Amino acid sequence: MNGKLEIKDLHVSVEGKEILKGVNLSVSPGEIHAIMGPNGSGKSTLSNAIMGSPKYEVTKGEILYNEKNVLEMESDERAKLGLFMSFQYPFEIAGLPFSTFMLAAYRNHYPGKKISALELRNLMKEKMQVLGLEEDFIKRELNVGFSGGEKKRAEILQMLVLNPRMAILDETDSGLDIDSLQLVAKAVNTLRNPEFGALVITHYKRILNFVKPDFVHVFVNGRIVMSGDSKLADELEAKGYTWLTEDNGTQQVMEEKI
Ligand code: ADP
Ligand code: MG
Repeated sequence: MNGKLEIKDLHVSVEGKEILKGVNLSVSPGEIHAIMGPNGSGKSTLSNAIMGSPKYEVTKGEILYNEKNVLEMESDERAKLGLFMSFQYPFEIAGLPFSTFMLAAYRNHYPGKKISALELRNLMKEKMQVLGLEEDFIKRELNVGFSGGEKKRAEILQMLVLNPRMAILDETDSGLDIDSLQLVAKAVNTLRNPEFGALVITHYKRILNFVKPDFVHVFVNGRIVMSGDSKLADELEAKGYTWLTEDNGTQQVMEEKI
């Protein structure tokens, strides 16, 4: 049990079209990695492939977590190993109260813990305080009528309650105002410890001012084309992504430098 997420030469197709073209990435416990890249480069495809969404077909390569090949596992089995993903576009489920959803998720996730509905509600309330959410939030139908910021905070609330060991946050920062962003960042930082790893996927550097990454990777056209430390995020902020995408020749040079 090394707690590592290891992605090796990952190729993924969606509806017959190859989107990921050989991704290599290793995230150890205690590390926060940021993935930055233009829209449509395949960042969400990577998150969905890690969690095992059935639409995403792995045609080549490996995903290992804790030295186990997760590709043969269903999403809930991957989650039980400790993986978690927050959706870029969370689903709305009419008629399903958040608290009912969370209780089912928690009991399935931790069958040995025998948590009562009241205990779970208290746990949720404690975590909701970190996220600045009102008490009646958990009575509402899952994501129905939630603002963009509430949907993202609802995802992070699930993360805090389930307490994963490896979290993938897919553009959790998009659509958040600065106050919500700081609350979300604070929540992620409460999980930061030597046993917790995270992959923070983002288009903008803003969240990385609050959740400082150990490594930054630039994702372009289905691959990581450059990796560095947190200073790389500043460079991207200043220069944008076009210098990495306009000319394939430039991209080639970048890859050779890594
Ligand atoms: P990013 O998250 O970097 O913006 P995505 O992974 O969402 O990129 O998308 C990469 C490419 O894959 C896009 O061309 C997108 O249209 C396509 N794609 C991703 N998911 C799906 C899907 N579920 N169905 C069809 N096409 C998809
Ligand atoms: Mg995306």
